[in-house]
This record gives sequence, structure tokens and C-alpha cells, in this order.
Amino acid sequence: MSRLIALGLLALMAACGPNPKAPVKVMAMLPSVTGALTTKEIELTSVTNVTTLKGPWVEFVGSTRVVVDPNDPTQQLNGGLQNMSDDQRYEVIMKDKGGDVRGHYVERSGVLWPADFHTWNMVSTYYNFERAYLYFVDVYAGVDPKELRPMRVQYWADVKLNSATSLLDNALYLSFVKSFVVTPFQTQQLVPFSMNIGVVGHEVAHRVFNFKALRDAGVPTALGVWSLQAFNWLKSLDEGLADYHGFSVTCGEDAQCRPGFLGDSISDERTVAFRNVAKADACMDNDLRTAFQNADQTAWVSSPNMYKVGSLVAASLYFAGEKSGKRQDLQRALIKAYDDDSAMTPGIRQLIENSETDAKLGATKFTPENVVDIIAAHVTDPELKKRVCNEFSTRLQLRCGQWPCMIDGVASMPHCPGTSARENTCPKLDQP
Ligand SMILES: [Zn+2]
Repeated sequence: MSRLIALGLLALMAACGPNPKAPVKVMAMLPSVTGALTTKEIELTSVTNVTTLKGPWVEFVGSTRVVVDPNDPTQQLNGGLQNMSDDQRYEVIMKDKGGDVRGHYVERSGVLWPADFHTWNMVSTYYNFERAYLYFVDVYAGVDPKELRPMRVQYWADVKLNSATSLLDNALYLSFVKSFVVTPFQTQQLVPFSMNIGVVGHEVAHRVFNFKALRDAGVPTALGVWSLQAFNWLKSLDEGLADYHGFSVTCGEDAQCRPGFLGDSISDERTVAFRNVAKADACMDNDLRTAFQNADQTAWVSSPNMYKVGSLVAASLYFAGEKSGKRQDLQRALIKAYDDDSAMTPGIRQLIENSETDAKLGATKFTPENVVDIIAAHVTDPELKKRVCNEFSTRLQLRCGQWPCMIDGVASMPHCPGTSARENTCPKLDQP
């Protein structure tokens, strides 16, 4: 008898308590086809606690403080952050490790309505991370993306990166604390970054690239050792791939494929224009090539040129995938190309590992030609492979003996043989 009562009480607690069974019907704010925010009923499929916004795929943490400061003595221990273990680094960078967030809801006919500004924002952000996760489940093609579980999202984080001022209006993946951060927004009047699923897809793509191509390193070795083009190419490649996956994630939503997804969130028209992955005239020019080959690390990461070279990567992928109608094949080939320990078709990770401790070796090995050849090697469909080779070689002005890089007998990109005329209007530059 008493046991029955106790069970009944438990059932009642489960119904009223903070752990409703997934999926949870909830209202969120998402961009529509026009790019404007609209309210929409969605389902959170993985959340186990909708109050603290935690589940097996995504975990929110609130009130964190992240400080990277070269003058902080604790961050100089062991010779600096690059020599610390993940735990040590987390300890010295997370000045406040935060705690649970708390969502507030009003229930109407079985649907939870956020009751305040932060809950609207958090729920929408959570949904975007869930959807990005499901996109990567698909493109991992049968390989469990366990490295994405759970994605730790530091919500409304106070983030200072080598600066006295806190970041605003941003969403980032920080490899050195293996966390996503959503910073407070202030000046942007458009769709906040974390409510823009393309932006969230872009950040999750950084996590994937970091894990697969950079061995999950908090501070990747190559970025500390390489300089000039090898360094610049690694940064731009990461950004370009992230933009392409960000675009790809938008394709699964009501607002449909959004090659210019950044335009929903930022008003700087020049940036929006060149970051649009469908920019037909995304081409290397002489000035950009000079900067790409000669800019030092600091100059490159603080310049739009890093994203401009990235946009050549994203546009090459976009046009190859869309013109062939083989978008999904391309997405899956990319993920395979990140990490492949086979002797016949080694991946980007293997290329990096072979030269990451030697700046000279990095300069000769980690070239756009070699990386594009790796991507091409992982594309099985012949039509798609041709288009990948064609778009990359013309947009990035790859050096492969002949131009475009696709005539028989070209040795520098063995996976890009024989095809015909160029597929875009990028003019041929003189080789330096
Ligand atoms: Zn990025």
C-alpha cells in the first residue's frame, strides 16, 4: 500500500518536475524566408531538463567568465597555454565556471512559451545546436559524432580575449576551453548570432574541424609553428569550411537554404557580400594573393582577408555541390577528407601531422594544392570530383603546372585529372 502511494507520488513529481520527457514542444524565435525573426512552435528532441537546458547533445552553462590574458601569471605556467593539459587550461582561463541557467515558461495547451527575453533566446539557441548536431549526424554517414556530445554552450558569457573589453554580439567556438560561447548582444539590431542557425552551424563546424583535423588540440601545434601562407591557409580553410557547413545546416530549415545567412545577422554590407557562399565572382585577385602569401599571423587573423580566402573555399564547394546536384555527397566527402589514416588517401589531419612541428615543411606541404587534392581524393562521384577540382583551381588560382589544374599529365594534383573548360568567370592571374 505504502509502496503504491510512493509510486503515485513519484509519477506526480515526474509530471510536474523540471524533467519533462523529450521531445518538448516549445515556442522559439527563428528566421523566416525573409530573414526576419518569427515565433514558431518547435520540438526539442533531446532536452532532458528544459529549465536548465541540458540534454545529451547540448548543455547550457550560465554566468561564465572567460579571460585569455598573456599577463595573467597562471596562464604563463608550464611555458604557456599551449603546454597545458585541457583541464589545466580550463582552470586558468575560466575565471568563473558558471552554473545552471534557468528558463521560465508558461504552458499553453501542452506548448511551453518562454516567459522572458533570455528564455526565448536560450530555447532558440538550443534548437539551433540540436539541428546542427543532426546535420552532422547525417554527414558523418554512419560514424557516431560522439565528440559533439554534449556541446557545452556558455550562454551570455563574459569573454575577454587578449583585451580589456568584453566581446559583444558574437557566438564562437573556443577550442582552448572546448566550449561554445554566446556573448551578450548590444549593437546588432538584426537576428542575434545564436538565433541564426547558419552561424551556429558555422561554429559547430569549427568544433568538427578542430576535433578531426587538429586532433582536438586546445592550442593546435601548427598554429604556433607555421607562418605566412601555411598558417594563413589553415585559418582560412577552417573558416571557409565552416561557412559552407553553416550554409548547409540552413538547408534543413523552414527558411530554406541561405547562402547569405550572415546577412540575417550583420548589417555590414561588404562583409555580407563577400561571405555569401553563392558569390559567383569569388575569385583570388593579385592583392589578396599578395596578402595571403606575405601577411604574418597577427595581421592575417585581424584582417578581412582571412575570411576572403575562406570565402573562396566556401564558394568553390557551394558551386561544385549545387551545380552537380550532389550537395550531400560533397558534405560527406569533406568530413572523410578531414581525417583518413589510409595510406592511399591520407586526410587533412595526416597532412598537418606530418609537418606541424616544422615551419619549412609546413610551408612546402600545407599548400592549397595539396589540401584540394585531398578533398578531391575523397569525392567518389566523377562529375562532382571534376567540379570540385575546377572550382577550386580557378577560384584559388592553384598552381598545378597548367591552368585550370585539370589537364592530363599534371603531377601536383593527381586526383584532379582531365576535364574541360572552367566553370566560372574568375580571370587567370599571372603566376608570381
Ligand atoms: Zn569562424
